[in-house]
Amino acid sequence: MRRTLITGGAGFLGSHICDRLIQEDHEVICLDNLITGRMDNVAHLLGHRAFHFIKLDVTEYLDIESPLDDVLHFASPASPVDYQRLPIQTLKVGSLGTHKALGLAKAKGARFLLASTSEVYGDPLVHPQREDYWGNVNPIGPRGVYDEAKRFAEAMTMAYHRYHGLETRIARIFNTYGPRMRPSDGRVVSNFINQALRGQPLTVYGDGSQTRSFCYVSDMVEGLYRLLVSDEVEPVNLGNPKEFTVIELAHLVLQATGSTSGIEFLSLPVDDPRVRQPDISLAGRRLGWAPAVEIAEGLALTIDYFRKQLRSSH
Ligand code: UDP
Repeated sequence: MRRTLITGGAGFLGSHICDRLIQEDHEVICLDNLITGRMDNVAHLLGHRAFHFIKLDVTEYLDIESPLDDVLHFASPASPVDYQRLPIQTLKVGSLGTHKALGLAKAKGARFLLASTSEVYGDPLVHPQREDYWGNVNPIGPRGVYDEAKRFAEAMTMAYHRYHGLETRIARIFNTYGPRMRPSDGRVVSNFINQALRGQPLTVYGDGSQTRSFCYVSDMVEGLYRLLVSDEVEPVNLGNPKEFTVIELAHLVLQATGSTSGIEFLSLPVDDPRVRQPDISLAGRRLGWAPAVEIAEGLALTIDYFRKQLRSSH
């Protein structure tokens, strides 16, 4: 049985990874300071003999007694609304937190996987984005706290690999959606679905012509697991290459929910990337991975989740 520690394990993506690791017979040590993670996401795992939860801020010293085979660093506010509300914590978890998690992996001789992001490409001048594109990031803009922290995290991870010989993996995760997103996390999929279900107008920022490419969470988890067990050291893009404008997404959500909500146009946030689409040919070649869940199916599953959440909150 492999023993795997995951930071941010009670978050949206982290908790789905915990489920997968348990399925794969790992013993899981889940760390989370619960700033944006939620116990609800892992409540079903709490009684499991192979699951351990520790409430901890990963920027503090990590004192884990048991041996570890893998350290997965997923802790960070990840939605623009969250990381702009928590700018210092975001910078700290990406920098100090990554350093602590790498130090722990080194001390245990464990494999390390970094949850990086498509935000390392910033507002990209190359489209779609391939791993060899260096990006176009405003270091002092409102998104810089996340983008630069993750860029630093990648640099630190490669340094541990090159200098200490640590086994490392870097996933550049593109927009991902699905059950366990927080209804108020501010991201476009969760906002639109919750607005549609509540009969409120869907808030489209700018004219809605900006694009994103949305990956359903089960596809993402499959890609992450394959990357973990691969021997791919350089960063790998993981995401669904099917690209939509934000306005197209609004119409898809209205259709899928059967909502009669209207659309409200609000101002575009500063530095909002104009386009985003992963080139996933590397993941295809090296991991034999490609997403399988179509947007209609993924939205239906996510809508179902938020419907239940809304019902239980009444
Ligand atoms: N967006 C929007 N309405 C919302 C939330 C987001 O139009 O209620 C837009 C946002 O400006 C961006 C895209 O949707 O262009 C994706 O935003 P999200 O916060 O989901 O993630 P990002 O890809 O920007 O990190």
